[in-house]
Amino acid sequence: MKSPRFKYVRPNSLDQAIGLLSEFGDEARVLAGGQSLMPTLNMRLSHPEILIDINNLEDLKGISLQGDFVRIGALVRHVEVMESSVIREELPLIAEAIPHVAHVAVRNRGTFGGSIALADPAAEMPACALALNANFLLKGPRGTREIEAEKFFYGLYETAIEPDEILVAALLPRIKSGEIFAFTELARRQGDFAQAGVACKARISGQIIEQIRLVYFGSEVKPTLGNNMMTVLKGQRWSDSLVESNSSQLDTDLDPIQNLHGSSSLKLHLQKVLTKRVVHAVMEKAGSI
Ligand code: FAD
Repeated sequence: MKSPRFKYVRPNSLDQAIGLLSEFGDEARVLAGGQSLMPTLNMRLSHPEILIDINNLEDLKGISLQGDFVRIGALVRHVEVMESSVIREELPLIAEAIPHVAHVAVRNRGTFGGSIALADPAAEMPACALALNANFLLKGPRGTREIEAEKFFYGLYETAIEPDEILVAALLPRIKSGEIFAFTELARRQGDFAQAGVACKARISGQIIEQIRLVYFGSEVKPTLGNNMMTVLKGQRWSDSLVESNSSQLDTDLDPIQNLHGSSSLKLHLQKVLTKRVVHAVMEKAGSI
């Protein structure tokens, strides 16, 4: 099917883009890589009056170091993230997760900001951003604001971005000494959206899990912290059986949605298996196994 008719504009400044968003409100859509938006138009799931193509906006481009943070511009393509030495050195969690995002053709056009703004529940980048305590920079007619990842993802494809705001960049804390990261997901084929997945940040001392942060995706309506699981594992001496015997904590942490990728109980089971794997992986990376 072809998309419905729409007006198309390609502003050259962020202010101009925001002006257009304010003018057209709900009738406007921001166009970044188009990898998710264009299929929804072609399937006639969305009928915007106007597309505001942000691809000329220099303020939204580039990966750079800003003090303790890595700034990833919203328009940075997945392929740029994958090839960046800054990402490899400073954000090993993102470096590990990015090859799981879609396929080469989609990664060549799809953007980091598009993935965050869309907030697909099975997407890898929102989960990593939450695991890393990222902040997001939003700009609208009322000015610029920064919002933490924990307050950004509301629900199924719902974020804190107002209809007249544009996501400008993400600020992700650079790796600190002693931090270990691991990422795991299950998808039917490499590059497909995940059925279940976990992003993990930890501090390990010998066999002790000093700190651990677990973010689940694929199963929930939004990237979700495993708060109870994190609490019971913190300060404990690691073993596979420690993680397994506490896996019932996820019964309360998670509320998996049933969809084409599986039932709620299947996804809960998969997340328990992945938790064991991801904690095993951080222990291995810490040299503790
Ligand atoms: P667009 O499609 O241009 O926009 C998506 C939405 O975000 C739109 O509503 C748009 O208005 C809004 N938006 C975009 N940028 C901004 C901004 N800066 N400010 C405000 N709003 C904005 N993703 C994964 O994470 N994992 C996968 O495994 C995966 N597999 C895929 C497989 C296929 C076959 C396809 C087609 C896509 C897949 N994707 C996957 C999605 C892909 O990563 C997209 O690139 C991403 O979801 C959206 O990025 P985009 O730049 O294409 O955004």
